[in-house]
Amino acid sequence: MITKELDKKYILQTYGRGDIEFVSGDNATLTDTEGKKYIDFTSGIGVVSVGHANARVNAAICEQISNITHTSNLYHIAPQAKAAEAVVNASGYDMACFFGNSGAEANEGAIKIARKHGERDGEIKRYKIITLKHSFHGRTITTVKATGQEAMHNYFGPFPDGFVYADDINSIEALLDDHTAAVMIELIQGEGGVEPQDKAQIQALEKLLKSKHIPLIIDEVQTGGYRTGEFTASQVYGITPEIITLAKGVGGGVPVGIVMTSLKNVLSQGDHGSTFGGNYLSSSAVCSVVEILNELKQSGELTKTSLYFNEVLNDFYQANKKLFTQKVGIGMMCGLRVKDADTLGAIMTNAKESGVMVLRAGRNTLRFLPPLTITKEEIDEGFKALTTAVSGL
Ligand SMILES: *Cc1c(COP(=O)(O)O)cnc(C)c1O
Repeated sequence: MITKELDKKYILQTYGRGDIEFVSGDNATLTDTEGKKYIDFTSGIGVVSVGHANARVNAAICEQISNITHTSNLYHIAPQAKAAEAVVNASGYDMACFFGNSGAEANEGAIKIARKHGERDGEIKRYKIITLKHSFHGRTITTVKATGQEAMHNYFGPFPDGFVYADDINSIEALLDDHTAAVMIELIQGEGGVEPQDKAQIQALEKLLKSKHIPLIIDEVQTGGYRTGEFTASQVYGITPEIITLAKGVGGGVPVGIVMTSLKNVLSQGDHGSTFGGNYLSSSAVCSVVEILNELKQSGELTKTSLYFNEVLNDFYQANKKLFTQKVGIGMMCGLRVKDADTLGAIMTNAKESGVMVLRAGRNTLRFLPPLTITKEEIDEGFKALTTAVSGL
């Protein structure tokens, strides 16, 4: 396998890659180099929200890049302005956007906004960002530090100061002080193990922070783009955060990161920037993806697909209670808690064999992030393969 050899020789070995290479995709179906087909319950970790090789997105990108791909942010960029309008309108929040290229970069932007806001806001310099212990916010030096998991802080220091970790939502209040610039959380922890927060607790936190004029940052890199039923999970939770970050699902596979905020005047000219962010290529993809997802939502198809996926997932769970202890998640961000790590490892291996791609999250969660366009037939076929995968366990 030539790719495997090239990878070993020329790529830094930071990933534990499965021994598999895909060459094409069609909606939620992938084909590997041997011609074997797989049902994709991962969307490339929540990215390919409108399916692989989506014809409408591809046409929009091709049309765009046949005219112009990139000019820099020194000039007006029509698709960037339109993508921002689409994203803001889909969210329903009174916000404005900054475009970067990844989730980590969107979170960096959020932290910069919160810190500058904290600096302007009164006499005392507010710089502390409170995050959760089991969070995941990215891989840059700052977002690695923002990530509460201690194991991620083993190397790479010294880190930027001012990150404080709370055990859970209820313990945030005790950590607030005059130096707190913001609280940054995921409403459903993704990498942390498909861990939805409690709605009442989140609403209470929002109220508390608003009373203290401390911005709430919701990291929606994984939950955003209709993954949980609304454009943002913040809408599902009925809150109005000051800052929201998006990435993965809103570009449909083209790299994009967006920070959107109601604090529209905190950053001024020269405070932040990106060479590639929001260029014609990625913005045209965002416009097309959001348009498709809006239609899916408005037609009722998204709700139908989500209900059906969860129904079949629940049947699978009920039929395999000796392996799984709980069904978790919201909308099409869901998971099954597996009784132990060995069993999860075996399921991952067998699933690949039987032709279905799934993810793990944390130590004991089998995670599902299917394309939001997945068909009934693909769902049925995927769970048929998964049933085969667990049959011997
Ligand atoms: C994936 C993810 C990130 C990091 O996104 P990158 O595009 O890999 O930088 C940040 N936050 C959350 C919640 C994520 O799921």
